[in-house]
Amino acid sequence: MTITSPTQVGHEKNKFIIRGNFDGVQWPQECANCGRSPTNTDNLSMSANFKGGRKNTITVLLKGIPYCEICYPKINRSHDLSCIQIFASGLFGVFLCVLFIVWQSQNDTSVLLCGASVVAAFAIGYGLSWLLVKQLGNLILKSKLAEPLSGNLKQDPEAGNVKGVRVVMTIPRIEYASKFAELNNAQEITIGK
Ligand SMILES: [Zn+2]
Repeated sequence: MTITSPTQVGHEKNKFIIRGNFDGVQWPQECANCGRSPTNTDNLSMSANFKGGRKNTITVLLKGIPYCEICYPKINRSHDLSCIQIFASGLFGVFLCVLFIVWQSQNDTSVLLCGASVVAAFAIGYGLSWLLVKQLGNLILKSKLAEPLSGNLKQDPEAGNVKGVRVVMTIPRIEYASKFAELNNAQEITIGK
């Protein structure tokens, strides 16, 4: 049983590593996207599964990221666009799989190639969704979207929390990132890739 240690934050510019107690993260009280007075809050939800099996999925929620009344709807639209992209990615993948399987059944190719083509179908499906939904969406809706904070989880036995993970997070706006670093007493570290 790991005892949760206090929140520890390290950063390299606008990229952060958070260990210990995630509920202890503090947010500078201004809009994370533009600096105006905040009216709403958003959460950053990150999930990972290092062992397989649904019950081994680890989720970490960083709560209370402040946004103003102008940026909050833009952040929500960006979240929606990401959901649509994931959905489209699956849809394209299944569609390409069917195409490949039909093509292979007519050309008498091996089972091994069939397996590889399923992987390829979903990879291409993801690429297509990134291009057609994410990039095109960003281009068309540019003024109606705002880039949310992003993050993921890394396995870390030294993380000092029950979940055994550290958060790697990026704050897009540099000014907000430096205020976040100051508020959370972030140590300057080298994060790299
Ligand atoms: Zn704002």
